[in-house]
Amino acid sequence: MPETATNGMPEPAGADQPRPESEGELPRWGMVADLDRCTGCEACVLACHAENNLPIVGEEECENDRAFNWIRVERYWEGEYPHTKARFMPILCQHCTHAPCEPVCPVYATYHNPEGLNAQVYNRCVGTRYCANNCPYDVRFFNWFDPHWPEPMPMMLNPDVTVRSRGVMEKCTFCIQRINGAKEQAAIDGRPLATDEVVPACAQACPPSVLVFGDLRDPQSKASKLVGNERRFQLLGELGTEPVVIYLKQAGESS
Ligand code: SF4
Repeated sequence: MPETATNGMPEPAGADQPRPESEGELPRWGMVADLDRCTGCEACVLACHAENNLPIVGEEECENDRAFNWIRVERYWEGEYPHTKARFMPILCQHCTHAPCEPVCPVYATYHNPEGLNAQVYNRCVGTRYCANNCPYDVRFFNWFDPHWPEPMPMMLNPDVTVRSRGVMEKCTFCIQRINGAKEQAAIDGRPLATDEVVPACAQACPPSVLVFGDLRDPQSKASKLVGNERRFQLLGELGTEPVVIYLKQAGESS
């Protein structure tokens, strides 16, 4: 990450660290979210549901604390009425370099892959939910029920994504099916993966381009360039989890 300033903050996870030989030229995936642009429209939430076959759980299950979103938009109010401003913050799995969810899984269903993704192996998960309890970002969701897809809804399911059954933990994958799809296409074309070729569903759907995904080790990627912005911060960075989701605070905001 030679072109990014640190601004007194730690470098984003793994971006500045020597690449282990075993990783070769592998990318280091990450995302930048510019909160100054977010309007709270939740198009990212809907795109994530459609892309990743997330069930709609309904009002009753939401009241039982079983809401189900891989990405959510948190809303904050700033100032006193009538000078109140709404602030929005999209929150998804932070793919922490030192992920608290990983060491507590008794069956290694969640682990770090060589490209820096916090991966979840569905058919290994036994549903203890230790990982969700240890996640400070509350971004892991337990599948309490077999999702119901009445006709003709199965026709809208994404064939590239598993429809998870009851009893497994799930969460944002940075649309790993799109990452793998782009890699396969590049291999078919006989070329390297292009900078910024992979775009997760949330980033694709976001009207003001709040979410920027890319290889943090590639100095030419949009995400890599944005990481150097002086407005950057990491969510609960003081915990030492080293998220690779980097937020840019709203312009003029002091903290
Ligand atoms: S789609 Fe973009 S603008 Fe809308 S809530 Fe999500 S991040 Fe914010």
